[in-house]
Amino acid sequence: MTIPKAFLKQFRNKRLEQGHPWVYPSEIETIEGDPQGGDVIHIVNHAGHFLAQGFYNPLSQLIIRIVTYSDVEVDENLFFHKIEQAWKRRQWLSEATSCRVVHGEADFLPGLVIDKYEDVLVVQILSLGMEMRRSWIFKALKKIFNQRGIYERSDVSVRRLEGLEERVGFVDEPFDTRVTVHENGLSILVDVAEGQKTGYFLDQRENRAALKPLMTGWGARHGIQVQEEGYPLDAKGKEIKNPFWNGAEVLDCFSHTGSFMLHACHFGAKKVTCLDVSEKAIEMAKANALLNGFLHRTEFVAANAFDFLREQVKDKKTWDIVILDPPAFAKSRKVLKGAIRGYKEINLQGMKLVRNGGILVTASCSYHLSATLFLNMLQEAAQDAHKVLRLIEFRRAGRDHPVLLGSEETDYLKFAIYEVFDR
Ligand code: SAH
Repeated sequence: MTIPKAFLKQFRNKRLEQGHPWVYPSEIETIEGDPQGGDVIHIVNHAGHFLAQGFYNPLSQLIIRIVTYSDVEVDENLFFHKIEQAWKRRQWLSEATSCRVVHGEADFLPGLVIDKYEDVLVVQILSLGMEMRRSWIFKALKKIFNQRGIYERSDVSVRRLEGLEERVGFVDEPFDTRVTVHENGLSILVDVAEGQKTGYFLDQRENRAALKPLMTGWGARHGIQVQEEGYPLDAKGKEIKNPFWNGAEVLDCFSHTGSFMLHACHFGAKKVTCLDVSEKAIEMAKANALLNGFLHRTEFVAANAFDFLREQVKDKKTWDIVILDPPAFAKSRKVLKGAIRGYKEINLQGMKLVRNGGILVTASCSYHLSATLFLNMLQEAAQDAHKVLRLIEFRRAGRDHPVLLGSEETDYLKFAIYEVFDR
């Protein structure tokens, strides 16, 4: 069988050669053969020199998505080896038992996401080429993992761009979709059928761990004095029996499962307020606080963050640490401007709620908002809030979410920890 060929234009940006994983229709000079949607196609340069193989989808703007830079046969065996390699890489780089096993194009499996939550696997299929090879994927997973079940979370609208309907449900036999994930010494209840995305945000595991040193060392700033013997004393000279007297007061905004709250408590926070607009998310966070024995150090508010933050500013409420982990406001480039206004508003109000010398932890998971735009947005917010920000650490997604140089799209997560000073 001869494989169809796509000849790229002679004068084009050498994006493929620079590591970009997609070919756009405008880059193609001509197509030889009669490829159908989802077929494998060879990508060659204008002179017919082989460059890569990919999945073809004439319905999509991403008309070819690169699968391999070699000319091996794209078959079930190749899929098995790719998925196995991806899993080995995760095991090599981390001891996490719950992690992203396959991160789409960055694992040279374009449009395929596989998350492992202990003994449950969640699969998300975002491209036609992958959709047509579903059975290869599931067979490989069953060979490599000893899972309790596989759940599909292809309930994302981008599938439409590939001509695909949304799809959710059990891949084989039904099972209990609730899983207790173990992360950084905590137990976190996740529901792979109900949770956001594939159930949980694995990409911030290392970022959550990075909160550790921030959560203690606040006693003196709260006017607490340590004595040679006996309990510490508060500003009025009263003995403090709370073992978390040196911990931070934290606001975890957009808390969802409460993963930041759990880490904050684990690392010694005195009190954490969780805020989310979704009652369901709040219930989840509460269940997780209970599971880890943190109920007495937590409180929960179901409200819209835009209203809540503004009200707290008006009421002159303050915290030692404010964490902002909003959803992707910019789902497309078209809405970027409005999204930036949203991010700025949240960050501006968030900064105002940080006590002088306290900490702002702020993230954005929207890849349309580049790191540069993110920093600009923060700078404008700081200016308007009359604050000076000093960076402690700027981080990205964890190692199980690799980033391809040459593909900005795979570099979506920004995570910054700042000290905030009054100006
Ligand atoms: N920090 C979370 C992940 C955040 S996901 C974790 O660790 O799991 C984003 C969350 O923001 C979702 O739970 C969603 O319900 C919530 N959300 C979306 N819009 C909101 C709004 N306007 N106000 C408050 N919460 C909102």
